[in-house]
Amino acid sequence: MSDLMLHGVLNMPVESWSDSELDKIQRRDRYTQASELILELERKNTALTEELQSWVAQHGCECQHPACNRCQDTMEAKQVINANQK
Ligand SMILES: [Zn+2]
Repeated sequence: MSDLMLHGVLNMPVESWSDSELDKIQRRDRYTQASELILELERKNTALTEELQSWVAQHGCECQHPACNRCQDTMEAKQVINANQK
């Protein structure tokens, strides 16, 4: 099921739910799919954050020289890392 359809099912108003066993099974499948998607996104976020931390460790700069373009990149990378660690 596409993410668009998944969001459609997850956001379906309660009034639209039927109490049939098939409907319950399908909803349960979508909840499981959503949980797996969240876990996958968390793993990707962790991997990207670690990659960013590695970049900062290897190439980060805080010299504050006006001509240094890595200082800005380093500051922004650290902001992303801090936001992802909350
Ligand atoms: Zn610098």
